[in-house]
Amino acid sequence: MIIDVAADPGRAIASAVRALRSGAVIAVPTETVYGLAADATDADAVSRIFEIKRRPSFNPLICHCSDLEMVRKYAILDPISLRLADRFWPGPMTLVLNANPTCRLPSKTTAGLATVAIRIPLGFSNDLIKSYGKPLAAPSANISGRVSATKAAHVKNEFGDAMPLILDGGPTKIGVESTILMVRENGLELLRPGGLPIELVERVAGLPIDMRDLVGEVLAPGMLTSHYAPRAFVRLNATRVGPDETLLKYGDLSVPGEDTCARVFNLSADGDLEELAANLYATLKAADDRGASTIAVVPVPDEGLGLAVNDRLRRAAAPRSLTPKELELAYADQRNAL
Ligand code: AMP
Ligand code: MG
Repeated sequence: MIIDVAADPGRAIASAVRALRSGAVIAVPTETVYGLAADATDADAVSRIFEIKRRPSFNPLICHCSDLEMVRKYAILDPISLRLADRFWPGPMTLVLNANPTCRLPSKTTAGLATVAIRIPLGFSNDLIKSYGKPLAAPSANISGRVSATKAAHVKNEFGDAMPLILDGGPTKIGVESTILMVRENGLELLRPGGLPIELVERVAGLPIDMRDLVGEVLAPGMLTSHYAPRAFVRLNATRVGPDETLLKYGDLSVPGEDTCARVFNLSADGDLEELAANLYATLKAADDRGASTIAVVPVPDEGLGLAVNDRLRRAAAPRSLTPKELELAYADQRNAL
């Protein structure tokens, strides 16, 4: 069932709370991307998220809370994390915090770590958590490794009737996942760039931000595991486009070859990086739907939301473990199973 949140928010929340209480996994819009939500304190419900997403069990989930009181029940806020929380929550920031030893989340949720990743989301999903009264584990609403969902229709296409309840909140505002940060002894570590620009974090934290892992990935793209991957192959930093390729560009500059290429998508005619990020996943899916074989993407600057966009694009372009034929068959199997 799909419920339009704007048409009847009360019904959306009541239905969602009922489903969550029964241990179900449901699809919920957040300001970043759509999430597959379940009660983070219910190990069986969380196990179902891993099954539905086919997510490796060693990959811990982010717990979404409605307020700091709920956060404190499960985690310990150090002074720097608290400063970031005061400034950026509710919003697209996840903090990895030490778990509160007196109230542990199931190890299914945290992958057995002594830390827990927490976010306070903005808007409807926050209202839902407040009504539910417990944190929701909510990874992106896609099969592991594939492009995340930014519209209710994406969730429906990915999971079909296997998803009992999809709350349709319209296209998500930010369109990429949260920025994940962790306070270390000598600074802040960026674990994943996302919807909160790192330049803003830097100003508020007043601490150096360790982006070593990201830089490592840039230097060794071959080591990246494939993720956020459309069916089509992805070619980065394209300065021209071939006749069989689909072009992803932004701004108003023309790219050599675009008049004769298979198709052109402009992610933001104004060249705005926030708009580009918001359109990224839906455009990758649209390119797939139109049968793109290779998607050529123009260079995107590593600033503001461009850092998150480049992170996702590098993973989308990373070598796939399956050949194109195998990938095609896997998709066909998936559709038949639904
Ligand atoms: P998502 O796939 O959007 O739900 O994001 C989950 C990601 O958060 C994981 O893949 C990890 O990278 C990160 N994460 C969650 N919990 C932890 C943790 N305790 N320590 C470090 N990273 C974490
Ligand atoms: Mg994801």
